[in-house]
Amino acid sequence: MTFHSFLIKYGEIGIKGKNRYLFEDALVRQIRYALKNVDGEFLVHKCHGRVYVDCEGEYDYEETIESLKRVFGIVGICPVVRKPVKELGELKKDVVSYVGEMYPEGNQTFKVEARRANKRYPMNSMEINCELGEAVLDAYPQMKVDVHTPDVRVNVEIREETYIYSKIIPGPGGMPVGTNGSAMLLLSGGIDSPVAGYMIAKRGVEIEATYFHAPPYTSERAKEKVVDLARLVSAYAGPIKLHVVNFTDIQLDELTIIMRRYMMRIAEHFAKEDGCLGLITGESIGQVASQTMQSLAATNAVCTLPVYRPLIGFDKREIVEISEKIDTYETSIQPFEDCCTIFVAKHPVTKPDVERIEKSELNLTEVIGDLMKTAIETAEVIRVEA
Ligand code: ATP
Ligand code: MG
Repeated sequence: MTFHSFLIKYGEIGIKGKNRYLFEDALVRQIRYALKNVDGEFLVHKCHGRVYVDCEGEYDYEETIESLKRVFGIVGICPVVRKPVKELGELKKDVVSYVGEMYPEGNQTFKVEARRANKRYPMNSMEINCELGEAVLDAYPQMKVDVHTPDVRVNVEIREETYIYSKIIPGPGGMPVGTNGSAMLLLSGGIDSPVAGYMIAKRGVEIEATYFHAPPYTSERAKEKVVDLARLVSAYAGPIKLHVVNFTDIQLDELTIIMRRYMMRIAEHFAKEDGCLGLITGESIGQVASQTMQSLAATNAVCTLPVYRPLIGFDKREIVEISEKIDTYETSIQPFEDCCTIFVAKHPVTKPDVERIEKSELNLTEVIGDLMKTAIETAEVIRVEA
């Protein structure tokens, strides 16, 4: 079967009034972004409070579906057959042949749901339902009508053209990226942080990222891996501005929780510069020494922006599951050292004391203050797109 369009279903909770336009515009923008590398020509548009993707000529169906499944805000994707508007006899033939092709077994229960946006059509929806239902029953005697819980709902919408669809492919849900501000992701080469970025983007938040590396202790290839991960996340989140910070000198000076506090400070600096409303990390309670409740409190204390930790209550296994689903896992497990894995303290403190840390930082202020300034000034910006 050749489909000519996709009707995009989206959740409507909380999108009344002006928000509805913002939501729909962001959805249209993200769909265009998702389809830009797919073979085919697509017209994405809003029409009568709905969003459609019209396919002009040949296109790659599977790839189109795969791409649409990455657009947050989409709840369902309905492949549509479009026909010119015809009088009833011809419309019946179109619907009967659609049902025959989609359901060759011919033994389902069904219901016809007609809608008439084009009020010049000489019958109302109820009449159309009855006529079309009868035509389907005549053609496929094994099928039965069930108006309450049918296996198949055959939607027939008469607009400037007739739209016929029955299948709904689930979308990812969430909200379109761009409807909820932006946040700064601390992105490492690990498994967790790409998943954390994905989860916050799913709520409509645009993502920027900061990566800390420690050349020559970490390789160019480790950095490439992080760029690759950012690109995989950007297939969902849209373009990502990635700040790559040379952290070598600070790390040579400090290995402990103090180092993590400097990471947060630097990431927050870039976040504020670009108007981000929060930071994102891939931390989960107790996973490693730097993620005990005490350590989290100590790193949290240096930030004035909220720090979002969407994985905070997840087990590693659950995080791995998501990373496999979103396709970052294979890249994350490539064996290139990131800076934190090289500079691990032999006996990391699991219960840091914020007051003591603050005292030792006072002694460091001058030295590290300068190092921080240099790290910020020499950061490289890479714009990453899927
Ligand atoms: P991940 O799998 O995300 O690397 P992890 O289990 O290795 O996490 P840590 O190394 O303790 O845990 O890092 C905790 C969080 O700190 C990461 O999820 C990430 O948000 C941030 N982070 C760690 N290392 C870096 C880095 N080199 N650059 C940027 N952010 C980092
Ligand atoms: Mg890590």
